[in-house]
Amino acid sequence: MSAAGEPTFRQSVDILYNRAVAVMDLPPGLEQKIRVCNSTYTVRFGVRLRGKIETFTGYRSVHSEHMEPVKGGIRYAMSVNQDEVEALAALMTYKCALVEAPFGGSKGGLCLDPRDYDEHELEQITRRFAYELIKRDLINPSQNVPAPDMGTGEREMAWIADQYARMNTTDINARACVTGKPLNAGGIQGRVEATGRGVQYALREFFRHPEDKAKAGLSGDLDGKRVIVQGLGNVGSHAARFLSLEDGAKIIGIIERDGGLWNPEGIDVAAVQDWMRANGGVQGFPGATYDANGAVLLERDCDILVPAALEGVINLSNADRIRAPLIIEAANGPVTSGADEILRKKGCVIIPDMYANAGGVTVSYFEWVKNLSHIRFGRMQRRQEEARHQLLIDELERLSADKGLGWTLSPGFKEQYLKGADELELVRSGLDDTMRAAYQSMRETWHGRDDVTDLRMAAYIVAIDRVAKSYRAKGL
Ligand code: GLU
Repeated sequence: MSAAGEPTFRQSVDILYNRAVAVMDLPPGLEQKIRVCNSTYTVRFGVRLRGKIETFTGYRSVHSEHMEPVKGGIRYAMSVNQDEVEALAALMTYKCALVEAPFGGSKGGLCLDPRDYDEHELEQITRRFAYELIKRDLINPSQNVPAPDMGTGEREMAWIADQYARMNTTDINARACVTGKPLNAGGIQGRVEATGRGVQYALREFFRHPEDKAKAGLSGDLDGKRVIVQGLGNVGSHAARFLSLEDGAKIIGIIERDGGLWNPEGIDVAAVQDWMRANGGVQGFPGATYDANGAVLLERDCDILVPAALEGVINLSNADRIRAPLIIEAANGPVTSGADEILRKKGCVIIPDMYANAGGVTVSYFEWVKNLSHIRFGRMQRRQEEARHQLLIDELERLSADKGLGWTLSPGFKEQYLKGADELELVRSGLDDTMRAAYQSMRETWHGRDDVTDLRMAAYIVAIDRVAKSYRAKGL
């Protein structure tokens, strides 16, 4: 994916890390201790499929154990390799620190194309991979808690959870061994949409700060903003739908595996998804013009570019031609370190991956807490909250009647006010709060120091500082 002369993904993460630590005052040696990946376990295992044994290669990398469990997704893709999982594990460390999810960083991957296998075969492969990791405590509620990533979802997480429960029959916290599970297997409301929702909350927060918008030459709010989205997977599709349906943004470009769609009037994202389900790609979608070379759409004029697919898609070969004044990295590592430098010089503002896509791990954190507490969020308070609100409404109505004031509550208010929050509302509110707080800690560093030039550098500084503090507290 990267252009010639470009560092690898892990080197790219290290370069961006080094830029930040250069302006920090870390004790000697700690800088290196935090940067390096603690361990990477490689496993090769065989599964008998269609009458013959097929060998698969998988990884689970642990970047930092300053807090345990360590956390991070498991990816199924042909491009999975050690360098990639190590880069992604490092990003998980910084991401968790930035949003104050109490985890170290980890990542896993299996080198396969999930489209080559049917459901039963994928279950066999997943269970076998999980078995290999579980027996080494690389999946464990108190040590290492995976989650979905590219090519995996609720279904795979349910298999992993079940595999763990079979191998640990007396572990009362077995369900907390993995997050991103379906609701009926111990999942939480709002986890599937969480990363896309987090992208939306991140952009809303960015647009609340006139000074920050001005740096990108933007003003106003998200209403009418022209957005190009690369990748309509779980993250890109949710982000695009929420931004267009709830914030009035216009999705003018969509880039997918088989090409790109373009319509300056805006594209109906749900309709594109229906089309893709029926036709296997975006080609032929009636509501937009199609270009077989989707990548060129990254370079078109827009207000916000949302790379939500693979790492390294904005690199030395195209960074010069990127016109978006604001990029929000919904994917992990979509902008290489070289491209980052070019874009910075052009004045482009980048909302970095470790913040922009942290919604997933944030709601994973809520799910893990739910599993450990063995109770759904809101179950104890909801009706009590409603009863207290009812008391207030009754009192207001009584006062109004007694004094002949003739007060009437505006339509809809009573209904809205009386309704106690359910799990989904609590999850969204917790996510919103997390995204706002993390943005504010980044922007304080961004604007508060002359040597901090951009949001990515600020994000690294906030994250590394927190990791360093926990190492110091541990006495290391
Ligand atoms: N794979 C997601 C990420 O890159 C989620 C990780 C998690 O929930 O642990 O952030």
